[in-house]
Amino acid sequence: MQPSREHSENHGLKSVGSHSLRQNSTGDKPAWVTAVKDKTLIYDIAVIGAGAAGCMAAIRAGHLGKKIIILERNDSIGKKILLTGGGRCNLTNAAHIDTFIKKFKPTGEFLRSAFFMFSNEDLMEFFRSRGLGLKIEERLRVVCATDKAFSVIKVLRDSLKEAGIEIAYGKRIISIKLHDDYFTLAAKDGSCFYAYKVIVASGGASYKETGSSGDGADLARQLNHRIVPFTPALVPLRAKETWAHALQGISLKGVRVTFYCKNKLIGSDAGEILFTHFGVSGPIVLDASSDVLSHLKNGEIKMTIDCVPHLSIEELEKSLKARSLAKSNAQIKNILQGLLPKTMAISFLSLLSLTPAKPANQLTKIEYRLIAANLKALPLTITGALALNEGMVTAGGVSLKDINPRTMESKVVPGLYFSGEIIDCRGPSGGYNLQQAFSTGFLAATNASQSL
Ligand SMILES: Cc1cc2nc3c(=O)[nH]c(=O)nc-3n(C[C@H](O)[C@H](O)[C@H](O)COP(=O)(O)OP(=O)(O)OC[C@H]3O[C@@H](n4cnc5c(N)ncnc54)[C@H](O)[C@@H]3O)c2cc1C
Repeated sequence: MQPSREHSENHGLKSVGSHSLRQNSTGDKPAWVTAVKDKTLIYDIAVIGAGAAGCMAAIRAGHLGKKIIILERNDSIGKKILLTGGGRCNLTNAAHIDTFIKKFKPTGEFLRSAFFMFSNEDLMEFFRSRGLGLKIEERLRVVCATDKAFSVIKVLRDSLKEAGIEIAYGKRIISIKLHDDYFTLAAKDGSCFYAYKVIVASGGASYKETGSSGDGADLARQLNHRIVPFTPALVPLRAKETWAHALQGISLKGVRVTFYCKNKLIGSDAGEILFTHFGVSGPIVLDASSDVLSHLKNGEIKMTIDCVPHLSIEELEKSLKARSLAKSNAQIKNILQGLLPKTMAISFLSLLSLTPAKPANQLTKIEYRLIAANLKALPLTITGALALNEGMVTAGGVSLKDINPRTMESKVVPGLYFSGEIIDCRGPSGGYNLQQAFSTGFLAATNASQSL
């Protein structure tokens, strides 16, 4: 017998009725109590959260013939997916799986089984075979050919429907209890759901407006799991210098940034940065942000930008001189053409107390050296980062010590599984985090289904 349902259409997906926890007015036990005893209301698997991990978990378990329900607090699936890749959804990366494992250091080994069971190739095939074209961009980022994250939602939505998955919307799960052989999940609105296995796929604790507010950690705590405190990852950094704030919206491609704490090297990477009204962002800044944050407690961090990484300081100085010789009436701001964006060239020179309109052939040897030295190591003082909610990814979550990496099953409570960002591992930008969510969702669902 199927669990009772209220069929209301929601984006073409079935919405499921709930069972009130309250007793009826006569004090008699409500019908669901008997139904649970008869096991007619118990789903094979309940998935908490309809993000990347939850949708993939449900689709996989549905394909394995299980009776699944997704419990989602929002009124639609994948709200965060819509924000990804600047609205274009960078859903994975075309790098080799070994690179994935390296990129997730120090938690890469934990994810090995998940990445091998459902790899980036498998994920690309999943979407392509369902009619979604993909393209590979710089740094091997894989994005939708449509340039619209909604295309990913559409494929997931259609696949959920095709796999016969039930979705209960507006169900924020606030409590989880284990009985003899099934779990009871209570939602904030008083309704209750039952399942033999539960996959927690409730995401991290940032961009709360998308529904991910760290509830998975509270649920895991209720069943005695260790939780690593949430901190922001892939988060923009604050800089002291107001000249950087004034450059908001300007991006520099092909630069190298290096971070130091008390003159000790923290890290260095090459790629793109973006100036913001409070400091810096962009892929390489976001990727470095967790390391930088962990050092900030020891004091301010120095960041240098090498705007011309392919030339040494001497070569750069020579090149600047050659540029001013080539055009006798060139102004200094003109010899920076191609090295810095126009607006930035002017503020860069003002920063060095040089007049942008000064004839370049009047520059002294010291001034050439000053320009070259600052182009090679433009300094910024990093004072902090934006708050947890602004992190594209959350570091922390359910401790890896309490999860079996081969199955994603809890080591504390058999039958309970975790997938996606609620697990304490995070990757860099470039499609790695969505792949983690899809892969761990797939692995958890495979094992949960096979153990039924
Ligand atoms: C702005 C932005 C851009 C990003 N860009 C990229 C990118 O281009 N590439 C990439 O790989 N990664 C990107 N990420 C990261 C990526 O989006 C996440 O790592 C990924 O979505 C995590 O998937 P998830 O399924 O674990 O969690 P989520 O996608 O957060 O889904 C969790 C779901 O659980 C639901 N939920 C939460 N609590 C409950 C509860 N108590 N009861 C019921 N439902 C609940 C939520 O409503 C939500 O639907 C980006 C993140 C942000 C914020």
